[in-house]
Amino acid sequence: MKSAVVTGASSGIGAASARALAAAGYHVICAARRLDRLNDLASEIKGTAIECDITDASQVANLAAQVGPTLNVLVNNAGGALGADPVIEGDPEQWRRMYDINVIGTMQVTKALAPALIASGAGTIINIGSTAGRWAYEGGGGYTAVKHALAVVTETLRLELNGQPVRVSEIAPGMVHTEEFSLVRLGDQSKADAVYAGVAEPLLAEDIADAVQWVATRPQHVNVDLMIVKPIAQAAAHKVHRES
Ligand code: NAP
Repeated sequence: MKSAVVTGASSGIGAASARALAAAGYHVICAARRLDRLNDLASEIKGTAIECDITDASQVANLAAQVGPTLNVLVNNAGGALGADPVIEGDPEQWRRMYDINVIGTMQVTKALAPALIASGAGTIINIGSTAGRWAYEGGGGYTAVKHALAVVTETLRLELNGQPVRVSEIAPGMVHTEEFSLVRLGDQSKADAVYAGVAEPLLAEDIADAVQWVATRPQHVNVDLMIVKPIAQAAAHKVHRES
């Protein structure tokens, strides 16, 4: 049976991706910090739950040890935004934390699992970037910077793994209405709700999970470098149609 690791599988896009890969026949190893949520998901999809803070090298080493010698798919999804301040009002701690999770955490997990992906003879790495990794927007400061960094790391990885049996993709979503993303970012439910106010149909976690499943299940010689997915209401990061 093919295997997959999904980081940040305790909510949102990660949980939906774990379900989508399980439906496609993968044994899914679900990783995140909140083990209770992972346990529920793992029993639902007959997968495995592993508590792992991707910014902690020893927990990442434990994840790799439990994954074993081969792995087919790695979805580096754990990440997110903290704050929406203008650059000249930015909080250095929030910027450092975002870099730690979105970039260094992704690098640590990729480094730890690369031997198993290579050993499978047919590996796939899917990094969940963002349209924030392609275009700037006001108040995006720290988040746009880390997702731009992740996009470049993804491109670099593809170059460096050339000749190995591992393909490397980035899926870059626009606005996805997940339960926690904007709440974690803004720290307040009413501010989080305002992000999606009047938007007829933001993307759902399942829309991105569908893209993850599609990318993972193409024939192994097909490398989808970059998939940008936005809701029809979002023509650009800053141009969102809202119904009043
Ligand atoms: P979410 O519901 O807040 O999910 C974030 C996930 O990351 C959670 O499962 C969280 O689990 C995990 N996580 C956070 N810090 C972690 C750490 N240090 N170690 C391990 N896991 C950690 O957000 P989402 O909307 O599904 O977003 C998922 C990904 O898509 C993120 O990379 C985000 O930047 C990206 N994205 C989201 C949107 C959007 O509009 N929602 C758009 C573009 C891109 P624990 O708290 O249990 O650890």
